[in-house]
Amino acid sequence: MRELPAPATWDALVIGGGPAGLAAGMHLARAGRSTLLLERGELGGQARGIARIENYPGFPAGVTGARLMGLWAAQAERWGLQVRRGEALRIIRGHEGFTVRLGGGALRARAVLWCAGAGFRSLGVPGEKLFSGRGVWNTSDEAPSCAGRVVAVAGSGEAALQQAALLARRAGKVYLVTRGGALKGHRLLRARFLASGALWLPGFRVARLQGKGRLQAALLETVSGRREKLVLPLDALFVLAGKEARPAPAAWRRPPAGFFSAGDAACGIFRQVGVAGGDGLRAAMLCLRYLEAL
Ligand SMILES: Cc1cc2nc3c(=O)[nH]c(=O)nc-3n(C[C@H](O)[C@H](O)[C@H](O)COP(=O)(O)OP(=O)(O)OC[C@H]3O[C@@H](n4cnc5c(N)ncnc54)[C@H](O)[C@@H]3O)c2cc1C
Repeated sequence: MRELPAPATWDALVIGGGPAGLAAGMHLARAGRSTLLLERGELGGQARGIARIENYPGFPAGVTGARLMGLWAAQAERWGLQVRRGEALRIIRGHEGFTVRLGGGALRARAVLWCAGAGFRSLGVPGEKLFSGRGVWNTSDEAPSCAGRVVAVAGSGEAALQQAALLARRAGKVYLVTRGGALKGHRLLRARFLASGALWLPGFRVARLQGKGRLQAALLETVSGRREKLVLPLDALFVLAGKEARPAPAAWRRPPAGFFSAGDAACGIFRQVGVAGGDGLRAAMLCLRYLEAL
């Protein structure tokens, strides 16, 4: 597609190229608004790394996140969405719109759509930061192959169950460490986890991570009773203990006119590809009204 010269001020700047940002950017570009999508990593966001999405409507046999997001990106670019690699470091509201500061330079836009997703919560235990990327990960698509390895997943929600069941196909041994005595995912995911061969350690928390240069063991302790301890030798630990919406890097107390947020960055506990995409469309429609009223 022919790239148009970049305007000095874009109608809309979409920050984040996951499902929410791609859907929002597609809608705005299709409506004829000059729209730039800024993404610091790869287009597709978290969804891109999902091995098989089974609950996105329209794909009876499921679809890989990479394929689905590739289709979304192609559709958005077909309608003229411009994409740029970069990280939004600061958003400033001026008299005539927004300035978004990047590592090298700044962009100007009449409206900003914050679609930056949610970050994984950390356990906050000693050794977690030290071994991050050296045995401590959030999802298996970021980690090297776990074939034949001993790994653990910390968390009890749907992502943790899904991850543990997926890892159990290849890893030598998989533990699921949950503080509570119950699994929180829905019935299908619980059944899959229980049939996967992964070992469940209920009532434990990760207290400390140990190793030399890379993760080698996790010290677990019981959450109630006499704080019994257990040392678990590990090659990898996947931390899936919840997520937190990523806040916009701005100084305002309340979002100003012309600023919209969508997807995991905005929609609380309903974190799904379809919800994020729909929310991106909703934010784009609100943004169009705003631009028309200017
Ligand atoms: C392991 C796992 C399994 C999942 N399984 C499913 C499933 O089976 N079905 C389902 O529907 N959903 C699933 N989800 C949830 C789904 O992936 C998310 O709800 C969805 O991707 C959220 O889309 P989003 O666009 O809001 O955010 P994201 O996908 O997180 O995209 C946000 C994007 O913003 C970028 N970004 C962040 N900050 C900046 C910045 N300052 N500047 C520039 N770019 C920035 C990020 O790099 C990222 O690409 C799963 C999630 C995980 C982690």
